[in-house]
Amino acid sequence: MEASYIVESKKRCLEQGMTPSAIPFSKNRLSEEELLRIRNNYREVISVMNFFGEKTRSQLDGIPILIALTDGQGYIIDFVGNEKIRSLVNKIGMEVGTLMGEEDFGTNAVHLALQEQKPIELLGCDHFHEHMHNTACYSVPFQANQVDHLAGTVSMMTFVEHHSRFALPLLSNMVDSMEREIELRRTNHNKDIMNHTLIRSVNNGIIITDAQGYITECNQLIERIMNRKRTSMIGRWICDFEPFSSYMCDVILYGNRFENQECTFLISANKRITCILDAIPVVNDHQELTGAYLQLRDITERNELENQMLTYEKFSAIGKLAAGIAHEIRNPLTSIMGFIQLLREKPLSREMHVRYLEIVYGELLDLKRLVSDFVLMAKPSSPEKKEHILQDVVIETVQFMTSQANFNNIILTTDLYESPLPIYIDSVQIKQVLINLIQNAFEAMPKGGQVDIRLTCNKKQNTAVITIRDYGVGISKDQMKNVFNPFFTTKENGLGLGLSICYRIIENHNGKIQIKASEERGTKFSITLPLPK
Ligand code: ADP
Ligand code: MG
Repeated sequence: MEASYIVESKKRCLEQGMTPSAIPFSKNRLSEEELLRIRNNYREVISVMNFFGEKTRSQLDGIPILIALTDGQGYIIDFVGNEKIRSLVNKIGMEVGTLMGEEDFGTNAVHLALQEQKPIELLGCDHFHEHMHNTACYSVPFQANQVDHLAGTVSMMTFVEHHSRFALPLLSNMVDSMEREIELRRTNHNKDIMNHTLIRSVNNGIIITDAQGYITECNQLIERIMNRKRTSMIGRWICDFEPFSSYMCDVILYGNRFENQECTFLISANKRITCILDAIPVVNDHQELTGAYLQLRDITERNELENQMLTYEKFSAIGKLAAGIAHEIRNPLTSIMGFIQLLREKPLSREMHVRYLEIVYGELLDLKRLVSDFVLMAKPSSPEKKEHILQDVVIETVQFMTSQANFNNIILTTDLYESPLPIYIDSVQIKQVLINLIQNAFEAMPKGGQVDIRLTCNKKQNTAVITIRDYGVGISKDQMKNVFNPFFTTKENGLGLGLSICYRIIENHNGKIQIKASEERGTKFSITLPLPK
């Protein structure tokens, strides 16, 4: 029993004066230009159809089939098929550009699928034309996507003896997959456009890698820093690119994240840029690592501004110092000149001679210290770092300070982390910091007391921490804000340079210096220094 739409179609064909025995021929065909234009619109669909069509064809190995793509009116716009079946369709004049209309090919699957908007199967004599009675034809309508409203059919033709009940479901599945693939490509394409615009338009540097660490995207700031083209980086392993590798390898291997890391890049002989770097893992909904993301924020300008401010501050500080230093120098200078005068004028006993010279020497030592403090303040020398055992540095300093402690009635206690901590420092400078802090602690306890020096290791942050604790006068909240400023002092003979020098030195070692103090319970200074990785 033929479906009603077949019966009606055949009736229409007869009414139009068509004869079943005649060879069908196409009355409607697209001009070259029209065909080109339509094929251009459908190029995504054509490429997807070719992919799935080839797959289906190779699965049906040996069975002669032809898979055709038509547009929404029924014009054939592409073919995939075996030679054998191609010769048949050529014989009846079916080719790319011809319309599979009713008045052209009589009752046919493409026309009915478009008319009924559902999958159609026509077997042998379901067709109007006798020339098509040896064929089995299947046609499935599709909607390519919501945006372009591209529609049409994917149709399949074989010889009737190869017909199978599974053919139409197979074709329907193929069309389903095609629709999904087209939609996916479309969304991906849109996402790509969005990502590219975002990545290219931001001022930040961005690198994205896949889960194995191969670069999938980067942008112009990275090109500038690395001095190479984006295209020559994409596809390369991130671990080949210093300095990003040290962060990104950790992100990819261990899922670690890095935030606000400061790095400097030399981008030409005399241009450096300073950036804040973040490197974070990218995970999917199941928390599986799918890649890594690195971003750089250029803070060069901000830093330059800050440095300028610091320089201004330093200049005004030096101005203040000039006044202070003149005063500091005048006193010993007067005393030195006085004693030299005495030595020159009068014949003195050997004993007196030595005593005067001692006094002069003592005054000169004070002056020397003043000058070196001043130089250090005005131009802190960059540290000459070497590997040292931190315990040794602390012990040597404590030994150096012991006699002075005894003199001041102070007990120095130490509690040092046991296993030796190798560290990369300028030991002279670090000793200077410790001496300054211990000296301040002594001065906070004019009547004597106890100073505790501890060395601990923070494994998690990979740092060493030295604390110097006294039980002296303490620092008030108000003073706390100022103690690191040059020339801040509460002491009659203080210069107020000690802590600002300590601050500089520790900063040059990428460390931190902090205070915990209360007026009654004394003061605790802590120095944190990074340990080698
Ligand atoms: P100076 O020792 O010449 O005054 P510093 O820079 O070493 O200069 O210290 C600045 C000021 O910080 C001191 O004058 C003092 O007020 C305060 N200070 C530093 N260390 C301590 C401490 N251990 N206890 C109390 N006050 C301190
Ligand atoms: Mg001091």
